[in-house]
Amino acid sequence: MTDPFTLAAGWLQETLLLPALYQLGLMQWEEISFNWAMFACYGVAQVLVTLAICMPLERWRPVENWPDQKAVWVDIFYTMLSRIGVLPLVTFVLFYSLQVSLNGWMTDHGWVPPTLERLFPFLLGQHVLSFICYAIILDFAEYWRHRLSHRFAWWWALHSLHHAQRQMTFWSDDRNHLLDEIIGVVWFMVIGLAIGIPPLQFPLLVLMLRFLESLSHANARVSFGWLGDRLLISPRFHRSHHGVLAAGQQSANYGAILPWWDMLFRTADFDRAYVRTGDPGAEELMHTGTYVQQQMAGLRRMRKMMKPRAAKPVPARAAAEGAD
Ligand SMILES: [Zn+2]
Ligand SMILES: [Zn+2]
Repeated sequence: MTDPFTLAAGWLQETLLLPALYQLGLMQWEEISFNWAMFACYGVAQVLVTLAICMPLERWRPVENWPDQKAVWVDIFYTMLSRIGVLPLVTFVLFYSLQVSLNGWMTDHGWVPPTLERLFPFLLGQHVLSFICYAIILDFAEYWRHRLSHRFAWWWALHSLHHAQRQMTFWSDDRNHLLDEIIGVVWFMVIGLAIGIPPLQFPLLVLMLRFLESLSHANARVSFGWLGDRLLISPRFHRSHHGVLAAGQQSANYGAILPWWDMLFRTADFDRAYVRTGDPGAEELMHTGTYVQQQMAGLRRMRKMMKPRAAKPVPARAAAEGAD
């Protein structure tokens, strides 16, 4: 029996993708388009699973209650756009094409394409262990990407869109500036190519990691306990990262899935609990504007931060992190 994903992907391909590819003269993408449709369907399933787990959590123990939840709708739009449309496209289609070209080019030049198994031969044939190793490496790369996005004023201007949400919910994970998102995807793909993640595993890894990231944004009083919070990032831990800082307080908790890097590089703070979120330094449109208004506000803030006066390293950090 054919599984529901294959059926849905087949339907999507027949009715939407093939006619479009035919119109554009891109019939060589026929096979890849089916795979994209597959991962778009996985994206839908992932949003439904996230909803089924996070929504009851938010109802059960909400940190905050808002009479008007209009600002949350924009985050829902971000999620749909990212998880169902763009993410499958870039994580599968683009990653797949890049890996084929890169491996082909390297083989032509007499080089062996890089893989983690070549570096650590004990991983050969150990698919589950390799998958876990890929996840840990990607999470480590994500920690540094995120930390650097707080370090540089121009990058913070873009990333502050993620922090501007005062009504943070599990939908807020995808609330990112498009440029910030592109940097994130390129960063992830370069690491993925460098360690030779198999093309089918890459989108699965991204799906899994993004589910955990959504959970960490939930508006819920949920922690995994003293030990659990040190093993996996909980809503309590990540909320502290989104907290409005008191005078003299430093930004903390940059990790995405594992709190280990924060503990290792001394940026972890387990004491802050269920703080108020938002970025008082951002213009109001960044909080409550439409998708386009938020994106434009992010660009305006970036331009402002890039002016020479704002770009000095030390004040930049203060300016960048003062409001986070
Ligand atoms: Zn951040
Ligand atoms: Zn976040």
